[in-house]
Amino acid sequence: MLKKSFFGLSMPRIEYEVLPATLPVPDHIPATNQIVLFHPKSDKLDKPALFRPGDDVQTGQKIALFADDPAYVIASQTGRISSVSPFTGDYGKSYLAITINVDEKEVTDTQFESVVQNPTLQGVQNYLAFAPGNPPLQVFSNPDKKIDTIVISGVDTDLLVGTNQYIIQTRLDALKSGAEILKSITGIENIILTVAYESMQTYGHLGVNVKAVDTAYPAALPQLIMKDVLGKIVPAGQSCEDLGVCFFSAEAVASIGTAFDTGRIPFNKTITLIRKDGSQKLIEAKIGTPIQDIFDKYGMQVNEKDRIIFGGPMQGLAVYSLEHPVQPDTDAIMIIDYSRAANSTHYPCINCGDCVRTCPAKIQVNLLVRFLDADQYEEAADHQDLFSCVECGLCNFVCVSMIPILQYIKLAKYELERAQTAEATDA
Ligand code: SF4
Ligand code: SF4
Repeated sequence: MLKKSFFGLSMPRIEYEVLPATLPVPDHIPATNQIVLFHPKSDKLDKPALFRPGDDVQTGQKIALFADDPAYVIASQTGRISSVSPFTGDYGKSYLAITINVDEKEVTDTQFESVVQNPTLQGVQNYLAFAPGNPPLQVFSNPDKKIDTIVISGVDTDLLVGTNQYIIQTRLDALKSGAEILKSITGIENIILTVAYESMQTYGHLGVNVKAVDTAYPAALPQLIMKDVLGKIVPAGQSCEDLGVCFFSAEAVASIGTAFDTGRIPFNKTITLIRKDGSQKLIEAKIGTPIQDIFDKYGMQVNEKDRIIFGGPMQGLAVYSLEHPVQPDTDAIMIIDYSRAANSTHYPCINCGDCVRTCPAKIQVNLLVRFLDADQYEEAADHQDLFSCVECGLCNFVCVSMIPILQYIKLAKYELERAQTAEATDA
């Protein structure tokens, strides 16, 4: 449960929920008639596509739309591609949505078997970057990032979400195999598993360093783990990878383990479903499943103005279509009744200072908001610590004027990064 207590002018303490030791097996959402896979948009769009509508694909087949482009998705079911069309996601991120009409008869692609015989970093990067948990494997090929530490997050970063806690409680063998594979293909010895204090002693046999994370939100965010657990401060504008540390979710590592233990790429995404009454349920759905299928299974009525969020209550992002598919990183799906949704307003900032007191990055959020509201993004970065923000959403939570501060911040970061990329391309 979300426990909130305000102590006068101090920061609110909100606790992550620690799941009970014995958990029910997640419900499995049955296979659907049509799936949609989001292929990252390519800069090779002028080249002929290698897959087109009408092409048949097998379960586990790699679909890389363009030659000489590392981007790909993996077909999570067997069927025929019915369309490939542009799709714009959050903050203008572009994808190519590949829609597949699913066949009743499943045929499994076997190309991954050669990687199982001979595990290499390139082989794993070529087949498992789209696996449940979205393993961030490409970071190991970035010459600018000298990774020497892998952190496996066995704690979920947002409130009410239990996906990765469930994985570390129930898939220890897969987690162990995945950690061993990562060690062998990267040569990185320092692998750390972060867990809640209560369960530290359970994981000693995994062959990784086990570290405890505080249960006060937002202690499980990577930048906070860097500071509080590893003793490394991530400077504004830099990432954990810049300091040699990359973060994998427990599910991502378990996916790698399962792939090597079974010889098959896994597709079932574990998701925490958060219902309108706030109750949670763990489910499993194939990547690409439309969320409508999930809501239908539980008779969950979605009214016109209800809000659907991918992620948890503090950091999640709204989605606007019931056709939206489950993604490799969809840890939670939350539905909020319109009557209970906190709608943003046009009320001005009243300088109450609650956002400043609550911000773990010690940003003068009330001043930052003024720059963001005026679209002065560069000034916000230069003078108000925009890039120190760890995107915890606490300022949103406490803002009496209900200003969508986190959305402003994410948009500003996205626009600045886009401008930087455009400059680098033109140079
Ligand atoms: S979202 Fe950013 S600005 Fe807001 S409280 Fe969290 S760290 Fe501070
Ligand atoms: S919490 Fe909202 S109203 Fe209060 S200072 Fe921050 S932005 Fe302004």
